[in-house]
Amino acid sequence: MGSDLNPADRLGKAAAAAGAAGLDALLLTPGPDLRYVAGYDAHQLERLTCLAVPADGDPFLVVPRLELPAALASPAGGLGLDLIAWDETDDPYTLVAGRLGAASAVGLSDRMWALMVLRLRAAMPAARQEVASLALRDLRARKTPAEVAALLAAGEAIDRVHARVPGWLRPGRTERDAAAGICDAILEEGHASVDFAIVASGPNAASPHHTAASRVLQPGDAVVVDIGGTMPSGYCSDCTRTYVIGAPPSDFAEYYQVLKDAQDAACAAVRPGIAAETVDAAAREPIAAAGYGEYFVHRTGHGIGLESHEDPYIVAGNTEPLAAGNAFSVEPGIYPGPHGARIEDIVVCTPEGCQRLNNVTRELVTVATR
Ligand code: ZN
Ligand code: ZN
Ligand code: ZN
Repeated sequence: MGSDLNPADRLGKAAAAAGAAGLDALLLTPGPDLRYVAGYDAHQLERLTCLAVPADGDPFLVVPRLELPAALASPAGGLGLDLIAWDETDDPYTLVAGRLGAASAVGLSDRMWALMVLRLRAAMPAARQEVASLALRDLRARKTPAEVAALLAAGEAIDRVHARVPGWLRPGRTERDAAAGICDAILEEGHASVDFAIVASGPNAASPHHTAASRVLQPGDAVVVDIGGTMPSGYCSDCTRTYVIGAPPSDFAEYYQVLKDAQDAACAAVRPGIAAETVDAAAREPIAAAGYGEYFVHRTGHGIGLESHEDPYIVAGNTEPLAAGNAFSVEPGIYPGPHGARIEDIVVCTPEGCQRLNNVTRELVTVATR
């Protein structure tokens, strides 16, 4: 069994990766690691749900009895896993420890709650605890064709939202009003949930992680709109475009063009085998050459998949070579204040170079003032 997005060989690959990383087992509680390995999109709750993937031996899934039907109905139910239901008066931690047997090192899902980390430590005091990404990061970072297709569908959905954004950027409305309309559109265009909707206008556009506030949109504003959601597949979108309402501030058009050239240069640099930091440098070089280097205050990008920020990170110091299948953002920004701009696309490293998953126009879009 297994589907394109949840191939049945994931469990075996995860087990092999655990062994290669020197771990006796992976212990995965609800979150992206569990969804990646077994296709089970379980709720994070105080009752323990835990997939144990021994490097050698049979994987098993421990679930609260009341969640057994949901686990069986998920793709995990078709993987031939041993499903072990625990009752309200059982101790699921000793159940996991007993079933696993002696382990000297375990990899815990990166997003496991401290509540569970500490109880697992108490149940397995001899086992060194590591993060599961030690084993899973390379697997998760190299997207399969089915995962690329899921990310492309997410990119197309968020592109459709951006195509509608000018309709909400009306002078007299607040950033929050605009964000509310955009959030509705993120769902209407096919996402299962909204992850974020940054509408940063005027001076707020110079703050890269501003969200949306009570500021009223005005003629002459540059507006950075950075939006993303999660599709029913579990895969995420993330795309930024910068808009201007009427005539832009002086010098804005000039540095917007510098930014656009930098974003193109970074995408053009993407190919298998080059260091992740080379893509960051390719974005930074034209911005620095034009005198705006000090205003590009963040890394160029982050990986994306079942999480909107994951490996690989496109940042100076990351000398890891890119591999075909890596999916990440290319999102340089220039924030001189009292305005700023960012352009962000999700791209995939292909054997030939770079495939952009966002294709809505990167030309500066001017919104009418009335
Ligand atoms: Zn960000
Ligand atoms: Zn973004
Ligand atoms: Zn991003």
